[in-house]
Amino acid sequence: MKMGLCSFCLKSGILCQKCLAKLKSGEVSETDLRVARLLLSLEEKFPSLQNVNFHKTVDADRTLAIVVGPGDVPRLLGYGGKIVKALSQETGKSIRVLENGVSDRKFLEDLFAPMTIMTINTIWLHDGSQETRVILKKRRGTYASSFDAKAFKEIASKVRDMTLRVEFAD
Ligand SMILES: [Zn+2]
Repeated sequence: MKMGLCSFCLKSGILCQKCLAKLKSGEVSETDLRVARLLLSLEEKFPSLQNVNFHKTVDADRTLAIVVGPGDVPRLLGYGGKIVKALSQETGKSIRVLENGVSDRKFLEDLFAPMTIMTINTIWLHDGSQETRVILKKRRGTYASSFDAKAFKEIASKVRDMTLRVEFAD
């Protein structure tokens, strides 16, 4: 796994001056560091993680988004979901894996997976700002009842500066 901290610092957990400065300035957060170290510890078991470019995490209540490089999502979601399951167990959160530099549609599909997106459109508001409206196919069962629209909105705003409006189709 590649990220903005030295691999030696990540492995040891003891940071050099340069890495410590990144942590202090907020360029790298405590959660980024924790998740990066978790991923590193899983590399031996899941070798595809070696090629993952880790960007950052966004912590939104019970949901944790992990932002990785283009093409990296399958590397984290492979192995029958075992990596995501391990991360979820360690952090106690529901995990979303998102890719940098993709289209709005791809970003939203990854964010809302496994839900089906029916429509995405842009709403222009009177003050000139815009909202992205996502209409999801209605789902029944436990996933629907635990659906946390607030967390998804927070993640979209922090990762892509996107204001989301989430609706369900009947
Ligand atoms: Zn370092």
